[in-house]
Amino acid sequence: MNDVIIIGGSFAGLAAALQLGRARRKVTVLDTGLPRNRFADHSHGVLGHDHKPPSDILAEARQQLARYPAIKLVNARADSISGTLDNFSVLTGDGESLGARRLILSYGVADQMPAVPGFAEGWGTSIIPCPYCDGFEVADQHWGLVWFRPQSHIQVKLFQHWTDRLTVFADGHDIAPDIRADLAHRNIPIVDGRITGIARHGGHSATVKLDTGPDVAVDILFAHPPTEPSASLHDSLGLATVDTPLGIVLKVDERRETSMPGIYAAGDLATPGLPSVTTASWQGAMAGIFAQQSMLV
Ligand SMILES: Cc1cc2nc3c(=O)[nH]c(=O)nc-3n(C[C@H](O)[C@H](O)[C@H](O)COP(=O)(O)OP(=O)(O)OC[C@H]3O[C@@H](n4cnc5c(N)ncnc54)[C@H](O)[C@@H]3O)c2cc1C
Repeated sequence: MNDVIIIGGSFAGLAAALQLGRARRKVTVLDTGLPRNRFADHSHGVLGHDHKPPSDILAEARQQLARYPAIKLVNARADSISGTLDNFSVLTGDGESLGARRLILSYGVADQMPAVPGFAEGWGTSIIPCPYCDGFEVADQHWGLVWFRPQSHIQVKLFQHWTDRLTVFADGHDIAPDIRADLAHRNIPIVDGRITGIARHGGHSATVKLDTGPDVAVDILFAHPPTEPSASLHDSLGLATVDTPLGIVLKVDERRETSMPGIYAAGDLATPGLPSVTTASWQGAMAGIFAQQSMLV
């Protein structure tokens, strides 16, 4: 019997494993090797690892975890979970049944690519979600923002710290007159019409094709596709979720425990806003520590 099974062995899951391994708890980490930022060449804003490929950061972390004999890293998918506090079962894609006293869910979320030709191909290089992740590298260049909700207005204000050359693509969304007036005041053009395709060029740059009007070239395009949890294991147990503008995430308390005693969650799967490697690592470490403390006698 494991003390803890961690489902999802990326930034959040490995950070949880590190704390548990150091506390000499028996841990199995199940992972399918598809971290959310695998499309990006570099990861930014991660202290001590800035501008490294995400796969290098994770490989280094796995290497460091090899010091801890109680941590087992398994390349397998968790297919189902069942049980209750002190007696959980996880069935893997390889047909193995594993037991644990606690579970940590850190299987992340998946970005749902729109059916726009070229979008998926450009994701992570010419189409990116977050200025903190990649904005510095393209500062002062011509940015595009695909509008997706009124809160995009906040992004416009945020982006102006990186560039004063921004074009907003309405992509079929209604932009309220007062927001249009504010964008005009900021000298930010709005391109109406729906995006019908995105052609990626070298580096970050892209050409946005529209159903009305001419193509527009940008040096980088920001977009926020909706997300879905990368697995539905939480559904089978009826764990409470929180609705966010981009998709659902798991509800956790201040100890990172979900609505079911003994099941903890960390990382993008349980982050209602501003997901990042740093946030995932912090939450994973906390989930590991609180899971460990919950087993004290
Ligand atoms: C294009 C892009 C660029 C980004 N750039 C940055 C950046 O520069 N800096 C930054 O801080 N953040 C960046 N992010 C955000 C960052 O990728 C996420 O915040 C971070 O990966 C979240 O870590 P996580 O451990 O919660 O989830 P993930 O990294 O998504 O890992 C989840 C893991 O769970 C595994 N898994 C899924 N289902 C199962 C299952 N059933 N069984 C077992 N394993 C499973 C997956 O294979 C994966 O390995 C970027 C995101 C994107 C989309």
